[in-house]
Amino acid sequence: PHPSFRGRRALVTGAGKGIGRAVAVALSRAGARVTALSRTAADLESLVRECPGIEPLCLDLADWDAAEAAVGAAGPFELLVNNAAVAELQPFLEVTREALQRSLDVNFGAVLHVSQIVARQMIAQGAAGAIVNVSSQASQRALRDHAVYCSTKSALDMLTKVMAMELGPHKIRVNTVNPTVVMTDMGRINWSDPQKSAAMINRIPLGKFAEVDDVVNSILFLLSGKSAMTTGSSLMVDGGFLVS
Ligand code: NDP
Repeated sequence: PHPSFRGRRALVTGAGKGIGRAVAVALSRAGARVTALSRTAADLESLVRECPGIEPLCLDLADWDAAEAAVGAAGPFELLVNNAAVAELQPFLEVTREALQRSLDVNFGAVLHVSQIVARQMIAQGAAGAIVNVSSQASQRALRDHAVYCSTKSALDMLTKVMAMELGPHKIRVNTVNPTVVMTDMGRINWSDPQKSAAMINRIPLGKFAEVDDVVNSILFLLSGKSAMTTGSSLMVDGGFLVS
């Protein structure tokens, strides 16, 4: 196990599927005591079967009051991965109020709120901490039909910088990872059209989408002492998309 994770308490949101699930498993295997937060109970049940040390927390992050009570009671944590998000792609002219509200609540509001709860507990414990927010290449580049998604991820990058500024004196580091497309459920729903995915891959210098493990490794780096002097930054896991 990675020495800097042994016995450390970690909260991973959106841990039922995809990248969040893989982060929860990797942290648990590296010796951390992991709480896995997600919305669908069956996903958490299968995760706990796969990795019996993991503590499940079934919750809809759009519900501010439920998060307050459940996350507060589950803590304190030294490590937090704000990974849960939704991607509801709509042409700009057809963006609905519902999609906007849900995306703001989950992709942005819940990150702010869960981080407040966890950071207050970190500060009360006097313990150093690390927070990683899972953003996207979409935070820094316009993508068709992504008006709401791009905007929530852009807001997340800026939130990360202000959090880093205010929490740094408390020895809490805050960073983002910004992946290109990953073929999770979210990736498959939005990028399975071969023409659309080929056009994206053509714009990626490394010529491929990211694997879940590429993202997990970068998250573990930013949680670990190996990145002890890095805060307020965004680590691209984009195969060079943003420089192309
Ligand atoms: P998935 O859709 O595969 O998994 C998302 C997980 O988050 C699910 O377990 C989901 O639970 C959970 N979740 C969503 N909404 C809520 C909520 N309101 N409350 C609690 N849990 C919730 O997504 P990925 O693994 O692909 O994405 C993970 C992160 O990576 C996201 O932040 C995403 O924006 C980012 N990302 C993804 C990319 C991709 O191409 N896949 C590219 C760049 C960034 P449930 O299914 O039960 O709703």
